[in-house]
Amino acid sequence: MLSDLTYLEMCDYVKKLGLPAFRGEQIFNAIYSAKKLEEITNLPKSLKDIIESDYPKYKVANKFVSKDGTQKFIIEFWDSNIVECVLMKYKYGYTLCVSTQVGCRMGCKFCASTLNGLARNLSSGEILGQVLLINKELGGSEKNRQITNLVLMGSGEPLDNFDNVCKFIDLVSSSKGLNISQRNISLSTCGLVDKIDLLAQKDYNISLTISLHATLDEKRAEVMPIANRYSIKEIVDACRRYYDKSHRRVYFEYTLIKGVNDSVEDVKRLRNLVKGLNVHVNIIPLNEVKERSLKGTTRLEAYKFADALKEVGVSATVRRTMGEDIEGACGQLRNKIMRENKVKNNHN
Ligand code: SAH
Repeated sequence: MLSDLTYLEMCDYVKKLGLPAFRGEQIFNAIYSAKKLEEITNLPKSLKDIIESDYPKYKVANKFVSKDGTQKFIIEFWDSNIVECVLMKYKYGYTLCVSTQVGCRMGCKFCASTLNGLARNLSSGEILGQVLLINKELGGSEKNRQITNLVLMGSGEPLDNFDNVCKFIDLVSSSKGLNISQRNISLSTCGLVDKIDLLAQKDYNISLTISLHATLDEKRAEVMPIANRYSIKEIVDACRRYYDKSHRRVYFEYTLIKGVNDSVEDVKRLRNLVKGLNVHVNIIPLNEVKERSLKGTTRLEAYKFADALKEVGVSATVRRTMGEDIEGACGQLRNKIMRENKVKNNHN
């Protein structure tokens, strides 16, 4: 697909078709303005026919706006697969949360993305397409970038789709592309240690976020099957190596689940785990998922947990919850839509 290509690869592509280089620039600009093929006015019909099968066919299929201003978009791809992405407005600009896979195979018990397993990986150009489409929704174009920050925290495990995600980071941060600063990109992972080390080799300036969610391996394994493969210590050690290489502060996501990971002992263990590591802990009150039985804590309890961490010298804040009324948590909306479609189809 043409949105998978860098600018230079696009130049090669048109060259192979025997076309002049400026055609490459025109196609590239059309893609970065998220134009549909029929909306492109400066390409001859004969050329459009040639590139038709390679031209991106993703589109915004639906949009939901939360009371707090958070917007959630359903993006549909050529094969009818859908993912969601979430747009949050902060003082400094827009942050977009993108999906990296359709579904997920990591199996975390609190997460809606993984309920039906992994459907497929997204290509680099399909991950990029989410940014381009939403940039257009905000009135932006290839030369007018509205989105300043990206988080790879939508559905999917980014490091389970390693090569496409890396190519996406290359594309989106390229000066020929949207030129989004790598410093403003955060990649969130459940902790695939070997891939964290590979990522460190890439010398990106992105932030690494670990979905930790527990301080004991047995407890982590109760909610995150990946804990059977890598221990918390192995993950934290990989974070230390990532920090040594990148000098980028590491972030931990810690979703508070009532009775599972919210005790005083958890605070102590977390403190001991991160000793000497430049880390910030984001405490997230669980967004309860209908299909799952886990219960969250109150916001007050979350603040108490964060305060207890700060008292022992660990930097921590409670994450603002956004978009709760529009099924804000990872994969919730896609599942809701799939459920509704199933009901519709059963009635047909
Ligand atoms: N697979 C990656 C990124 C996607 S999930 C990862 O594991 O980090 C993005 C974040 O949302 C993760 O920290 C995940 O643990 C969290 N999350 C998923 N479902 C949630 C829920 N129901 N409530 C709160 N946080 C949730």
